[in-house]
Amino acid sequence: MTKLQAVINHKCPRCRQGNIYPNSMFSLNYAKMNETCSHCGLKYEIEPGFFWAAMYVSYVLMVAELVNAGILAFYFFGEKDQWWIIGTTISPVIVLFTFNFRYARTLLLHFLSPIQYNKEL
Ligand SMILES: [Zn+2]
Repeated sequence: MTKLQAVINHKCPRCRQGNIYPNSMFSLNYAKMNETCSHCGLKYEIEPGFFWAAMYVSYVLMVAELVNAGILAFYFFGEKDQWWIIGTTISPVIVLFTFNFRYARTLLLHFLSPIQYNKEL
C-alpha cells in the first residue's frame, strides 16, 4: 500500500495495515479513534495533546475549501447575489466537517509526526 492509499483509507502510518478509525466517516461516532493500531500496536496519540495540532491541519483544509468555493460562487453568481455567494462559500465547510476532522488527524499522523513507515511490520 502506498502512502497516498494509506492516507486516503485512514491506515496506520507505521504499518499501513491497521485502521486509525473503527467507524465510518458517515456514522455518528465519526470522531472515535482507535487508541492503538490493531496490526502493529502503535499508540496513535504519541504524546498527551498531540492531536491539538490537527487544528492547524484542519484550518488549512478549511481555508482551501473556502477559497475554492468562494471563487466558484463569485464566478457563478456575480457581484449582485451576495447571500448566494456567502452561502455557497460556507456550505462546503459545514458539509465536509467530518471529512476535515478525520483527514486533519490522518494527515498529521502521516506527514507531521516522527512516525516512520516500516514495511517489515
Ligand atoms: Zn500499525
